[in-house]
Formats: sequence, structure tokens, C-alpha cells
Amino acid sequence: MSTLFLRTLREDPADAEVPSHRLMARGGYVRRAAPGIYSWLPLGKLVLDNVAAVIREEMGRIGAQEMLLPTLLPSEYYEATGRWTEYGDALFRLKDRKGADYALTPTHEELFTWLVKGEYSSYKDFPVVLYQIQEKFRDEARPRAGVLRGREFHMKDSYSFDIDDEGLQRSYDLHREAYVRIFERLGLSFVVVSAQSGAMGGSASEEFLAETPTGEDTFVRSTGSDYAANVEAVHTPAPPAGSVEGLPEAQVHRTPETPTIETLVDFFNAAGLGRTFTAADTLKNVLVKTREPGSADWEVMGVGVPGDREVDMKRLEAALHPAEVQLLDEADFEAHPFLVKGYVGPNALLANKLRYVVDPRVVEGTAWITGADKPDHHVMNLVCGRDFTPDGTVEAADVREGDPSPDGQGTLYTARGIEIGHIFQLGRKYTDAFELDALGADGKPKRVTMGSYGIGVSRVVAAVVEQCHDEKGVVWPREVAPADVHVVGTGKGEQIDVALRIAEELEQRGVRVLVDDRKGVSPGVKFTDAELLGVPTCLIVGKGLSEGRLELRDRASGEQEEIGLEEAVDRVA
Ligand code: ATP
Ligand code: MG
Ligand code: MG
Ligand code: MG
Repeated sequence: MSTLFLRTLREDPADAEVPSHRLMARGGYVRRAAPGIYSWLPLGKLVLDNVAAVIREEMGRIGAQEMLLPTLLPSEYYEATGRWTEYGDALFRLKDRKGADYALTPTHEELFTWLVKGEYSSYKDFPVVLYQIQEKFRDEARPRAGVLRGREFHMKDSYSFDIDDEGLQRSYDLHREAYVRIFERLGLSFVVVSAQSGAMGGSASEEFLAETPTGEDTFVRSTGSDYAANVEAVHTPAPPAGSVEGLPEAQVHRTPETPTIETLVDFFNAAGLGRTFTAADTLKNVLVKTREPGSADWEVMGVGVPGDREVDMKRLEAALHPAEVQLLDEADFEAHPFLVKGYVGPNALLANKLRYVVDPRVVEGTAWITGADKPDHHVMNLVCGRDFTPDGTVEAADVREGDPSPDGQGTLYTARGIEIGHIFQLGRKYTDAFELDALGADGKPKRVTMGSYGIGVSRVVAAVVEQCHDEKGVVWPREVAPADVHVVGTGKGEQIDVALRIAEELEQRGVRVLVDDRKGVSPGVKFTDAELLGVPTCLIVGKGLSEGRLELRDRASGEQEEIGLEEAVDRVA
């Protein structure tokens, strides 16, 4: 550590909303270069590589072959499948010197399909599973929470190619099993939920969600069975009549470049809603429509109704990026059938979720599990309103805890999670676009069928921290940790020499060691750093050395034990 490129921080960064963001920044694992764009410092790179290594092992086990594709691609590939248009604002687009269109790749179905078409032609060539671990680029509307939602992030993406549906099912099942092994090895607590496949355009699809209260996804699970479903999954993708586009127009304001509580209060007061807001205030009776500067798409940000939950300034600050906004008053949303009265949500993704709620079964089902005592379950609250059924017949939400699970076993409750992996049976969308056929045994061409499977490698690192930390710092599971043992030498002379010697002996035995050999740094600072960095085992060479005693600390349990100098290497190796 005397030479390690690392400076830990005592204070949380101002923009850090969730534990993983705070601790990864304070521990010097990552540094922000721009919103949603992060540098991985030496310890962070070790952790990232550890996650990738587990993924590589398990992908290898199912016979997947690793490749590396370019992240800069001409638009033609995406035009062939319609995604140049479908991807919308999330696609990073650029031009070369001749004016030709290029994309920074958000995912790679197109090029993989094209490559397989170039190399393979017979049914005997299949099945094949190809993958890569690489940076992806998505211009997320709201990059958030450090590396959890980046605009550049690391993904493992694999693609299976089979000649028939049974083959695809096998490839899919293999991936599902591999994902379970990967996330178990990474020490994550997770659920597998059925999901809708969104922009990928597939049929069967499941998401792996790491359970944590800070997750963006709300899912329901049953007390009596394995049933779990993403809340989005039971919705149909078509927007109902009267979606957000139909909301009334009002004067457009531009929020401060850097929204803070103070600037937002000024902003709302200046916007002239006939009311005076304070920093402790809530946005009652205000509908906020926001959009990225220059964009044509409005999103509903929050609605406040007196006596119900409200969007407070603090939450708005966390969610709001520089944007153009329209502020509408109560009469506007009263008059509009799309907005549910009684819902107040700080979730900036609110509008997107609203659009999907058209199935009456869902309206009832989710209403069952809504509880006024659960302020975090805003998605649940969303769908319980009278105005969300296709025909508008549900007058009031039936708000009860636990009605039955759709599979008839147990009752439903809600939880939140982070999407760490996603597996899709794509079918033939991409192979149709590129006309990828294999010559069958009967000599006739057969259209190949495809699956695609993602893991957010960088997001997984943050998800692990979300689940594995305490108030002092990270508590890494061993397989992810940047080292197995953190050897701390206090003082200036002998202790540090001994610490270095022990570290060397441990390394010879294949133990990964971080050694604190900094001189002129107090023991207290060293212990605080060790707890912040979160290496599973800490071995302290301190004052007790004169009596031949060292101290062994377990990061997870906090247990401390005195051990003899001679036994130290054997004990921790
Ligand atoms: P999300 O719903 O969080 O936006 P997604 O459904 O758009 O994710 P996929 O297209 O399924 O993402 O990509 C595969 C995996 O890549 C996701 O399961 C997630 O783990 C990861 N991922 C997606 N977007 C990001 C991002 N912006 N930052 C970090 N990881 C991401
Ligand atoms: Mg996304
Ligand atoms: Mg998703
Ligand atoms: Mg997904």
C-alpha cells in the first residue's frame, strides 16, 4: 500500500445515493470521469477481473467460446434489424470523417449473427455458443448510483445458435444453470423472475435480480412457492390510450444545470405555481413533466395529492438531472384519465412503467399487495388506481396484503432487486434479418434460431457491495475480494518488515495479499482503511510483535483472535 495507486476518502461523495456507490468511491475502487462513466483503479480492476474470471469458468463449462468484437460499428448492422431506429436515444451515434454513421455498441446480436453466417453453413456446425466480456455503451437517460447504471459498462454477452427449437431450449437451460452457479459463487442472494424481453424482441425470457432495497426493479414473489415475476413482466408493452404524450402542455422551464435542493426550491418558486416551497417541502398537487434538453419525449416525474404520499425535494434532487420541465397543476391531472389519483412516486421511471399497465388481472393482482405502510413500493401503488384498467372500470383499488399467488400456492409480497443478468430466447428475429440458414440433413436450408444472454459484470460488482457491506465498509465474499488477506504492519520499522515477510510467504503459497506497509500512517487509519476496503481476513502485525503475538480479524464476523507469529502463515494460508 506504500506504492499502491490508492487514496481512500473519509467522506462520502456528494452525489452518492446508495451504499455501493459510496463505498466503491471511498475505497478508491472507482473514480467518476463523467456521469455514468467510471475509471476502475487498481483494486477495482482486480475485483472486476475476479467477477469476469468466475463468469469465464462457468461459460467455459457449458462449452461457450470467448471472442472479442469491436465496440465501434457502422450503422448498417443495426439498420439490417431495424434497431438503428428502435434503439432511440439510448444508442450512442457518431460519424466518421466521411460523414458515415457509426454506433458505439450497446449489445451485439447483429455482428454475432453476421459472423456465424460467414463461417458456418451446415446443420453439423450447430449448436454453437459464443460470448465476450467487453464494454457496452448506452446513453441512459438517468445514469445512477455509480457503476450500477453506467453509460459505459462491462457486460458478458453470449449468443447461442441452434437449428431447432429444442436446441434453443437446451442452450437456454444451460445458460440458466450457468447463471445460477455464477451468482452463487459470487455470493449473491438473487431470484430468477420471468420477464418481458423489451427491445430485444424475443419470447421466453428471465431476469436474475439481486435482492436489495436499493434496486430499481420491483418484483413479486410468493410465500408458498418459487413463483416470482418482475412487475413489468405481467404488463403488455402497448401504451394504453391517453399515455403521457397526451398530457396538457404548459410553459417549458429549464432546471438548474446542477440540481440541488436549494436551486430546485428557487426554481419551483420562480416557476410561479402560486405557492412558496421550502427545502423541507413536498411537491403537493404538482405534476412534473421532464425531458432531456432538446429531446421531444416528455416523462412524468411525479404527482402529489394532498393527504397521500408526496414527492419531497430530497428525492426529487436525487432523481432529477438537468432537464426541461413543465409544471402542471391539480386541475390538469384531475382532468386527465391517464393519471391515477392517490399515487405519489419519486421514481423517475414512473411514466415508463405506467404505460404498460393495461391488464386488469395485473391491476387487481398488484393492488392486493399494495400497502400504505410500504412507501417504497411505488410501482405497486401505481397500478392500483381506477384509471389504469383498459376500460376504466375499476373504481378504487382493493388494497390488501397477501391475496393469492397466480399459481395458487401461497400469497404474494413485493421486494426490490437489481437486474444482474438476463436470458432471452430470441428465436429468429436476427437470423431472419441476416438470412442465417444451415443446410439440413435433408439438403434443405433451415433458419437458425438464437438466444442471447447478458450479465452486467460491472453492475454485479456494485450489486455484491449492496448486499455485502456494513457501516464501516465493504465485506467482500472471498471469490470477489481484491485479496484474500490484508496484512497490516503498524509502526515504522520491525512490524512493517515482518508484515512484508509474512506477505511474501503467503504469496508463495498462492494466497493473494494486500500489505499495508505505509510508514507514518497511524494504526487507526490503517484499521479504518482495512475495514473500508473489506478484504475477508486481516492480519495485524502490531505492538504484540515483541511478545511474538499477532492479531487475526475476520471482516465479516468482526471476530478478533491473538495468534503466534510462527503459526500465522499456516493459519491464514
Ligand atoms: P436495465 O433494465 O437495468 O436497463 P436492460 O434490461 O436494459 O437493463 P439488458 O439489455 O438485459 O439490460 O443487458 C444485460 C445486462 O446488462 C443487464 O441484465 C444488466 O445486468 C446489465 N446492464 C444493462 N444496462 C446497464 C447499465 N446501464 N449499466 C450497467 N449494467 C447494465
Ligand atoms: Mg436498459
Ligand atoms: Mg431490464
Ligand atoms: Mg434486461
